[in-house]
Amino acid sequence: MKTRDDLHQTLIGIDGRGYKAYKQIQGEYDFGTFTLLVDHVQGDPYAAPSRLRAVAGQDRAAIPFHLFSTAVREMAVSDFLARAFDRAITAVAKGARGIGKSGLIAIDSGGQEVLRRTAMFVSEKEVEARFVVGLPARGRTILGREAAEMMIKEVPRIVEQALFYGNIDQDQLTGHVETVEDQEHLRSALPDRGLVAFVADGAILPRRSGIDDRPLQDNPIPFESPEEFRTAFSAPNRGEVRGMGIPAGITLIVGGGFHGKSTLLNALKRAVVPHIPGDGREYVVTNPTAVKIRAEDGRSIAGVDISPFIQNLPYGKETHSFNTTNGSGSTSQAANIMEALEMGTGLLLIDEDTSATNFMIRDQRMQRLVAKEREPITPFVDRVRQLKDEHQVSTILVMGGSGDYLDVADQVIMMDAYLPVDMTDRAREVVATVTTRRVHEGGGAFGAVTGRIPRDRGFDPRRGNRAVKIDTRGLHEILFGRERIDLSALEQLFDPSQTRAIGDMIHYYARTYGGRGLTLCEGLARTIADAEKEGLDLLSPYKLGSYAMPRIFELAAAINRMRSLQIAGQDRRGA
Ligand code: ADP
Ligand code: MG
Repeated sequence: MKTRDDLHQTLIGIDGRGYKAYKQIQGEYDFGTFTLLVDHVQGDPYAAPSRLRAVAGQDRAAIPFHLFSTAVREMAVSDFLARAFDRAITAVAKGARGIGKSGLIAIDSGGQEVLRRTAMFVSEKEVEARFVVGLPARGRTILGREAAEMMIKEVPRIVEQALFYGNIDQDQLTGHVETVEDQEHLRSALPDRGLVAFVADGAILPRRSGIDDRPLQDNPIPFESPEEFRTAFSAPNRGEVRGMGIPAGITLIVGGGFHGKSTLLNALKRAVVPHIPGDGREYVVTNPTAVKIRAEDGRSIAGVDISPFIQNLPYGKETHSFNTTNGSGSTSQAANIMEALEMGTGLLLIDEDTSATNFMIRDQRMQRLVAKEREPITPFVDRVRQLKDEHQVSTILVMGGSGDYLDVADQVIMMDAYLPVDMTDRAREVVATVTTRRVHEGGGAFGAVTGRIPRDRGFDPRRGNRAVKIDTRGLHEILFGRERIDLSALEQLFDPSQTRAIGDMIHYYARTYGGRGLTLCEGLARTIADAEKEGLDLLSPYKLGSYAMPRIFELAAAINRMRSLQIAGQDRRGA
């Protein structure tokens, strides 16, 4: 194997030459304490940066086995090391060294969530970090000495600071692993306690801003459970954690405007995955199958049975297999619910702020004015109970604007100046004394949830002269072949690296499980299972450090928004 000195000499040797000469450094180098692999060299200083890996044997890295002895711990320790690597870059790297990406060193270390990602791997044998480097240039001329500074001095210092146990803040690492493990423990303990969510006392729910998911800094009010919903869990590391348990069933979150209703629901929707220590939501956990539902007018809908909510459209438009290229507020919200049920959700999260009013409510006076025969929509208020009774699907609903939901709620929590108060008994009194003559419109039953079988010709990844061309732009856009998929309504897509994985998973799904007569749910469940078993590397011929694991719900949601999606048939056995 070539050595660090060989790499040094090559870089000095190509100083002043054209950028393409950098291709020579592709290969493996023995750096003494670790191996550096230059997997791919960028074509020019503005292109996507070069891809590298550093692999250190455990004889040097010495990460104790107990810190990665389970799948959850392995995820947590990898997450910690990627963040440590990122911090070491900030501490060590000089930064810009020329034009374009010259001088850049970066690793995909994530935001507030802890996800399985391909930036870092820890095993009994070794630790592997995947990162990118912008090889420095002036114009198209190689700055070989600058490159040597980066590769020979900076990279080894980063690797040694971040990956060698002796140099790591060991208490912080242990705390990170234990916090993540506690969260996963709490989340998996919810069903046995009959709960769909738990919010620990002391949790900090508000965020810095709509585009900054870090905790609010100036005097946030810590969460405090109301006595009636107070419960305690025993977490394996932290011991007793006290807080508010939200039981299965229908939970209404009420309260005046600006009292923290949406803040609570937003914390719950993100608590389907663990958060890093210091986030404030470390001990907030939600049923991992929870899906945030909203209206999303303009989205396309392919072959979805929205008939539980919408029937008898004007001119006899079919709703048992509903197609549109331009959904309305109510049809899009209905489709979002039916698709989530198809993928097996056990908990719907709905906020009045992002719902279609006519989908949520139809009050007594409107029932009088517009006869049922003339209203295609059966409002959610008349289906929410059936969803629980027939499909064991719970709902947590923020609703400050309509009292009609008091009739169907199992529990009512009022947010009062950011703190929850149990209002269940008071709500029952109101229901008894202020009677509504509203007529139930739900009819017989909700009925079966159908699985859809997609046609494989709906998944064409070709663009221009490329047989497969899949790109992503940030968190909310995938370019799949010539199709642009808009994901801006997916509130539980947390990381652009999940978006990248979804883009490539769609292709993996179509070529591996498409055209076999499987329902979408069956095919995607197998896709996710493959990715969990073999790792996200199965999505690419290259060893990329920029994937993070998505949930099946967001993967399905991306496919459901493809305008090329075609449904061959439905499977009424259920999803
Ligand atoms: P609602 O949905 O009830 O109208 P929001 O949840 O949107 O209210 O909250 C209104 C504002 O209060 C937001 O700016 C939010 O950041 C802030 N807020 C929410 N909870 C807290 C809290 N616990 N401490 C401090 N500020 C909070
Ligand atoms: Mg709100």
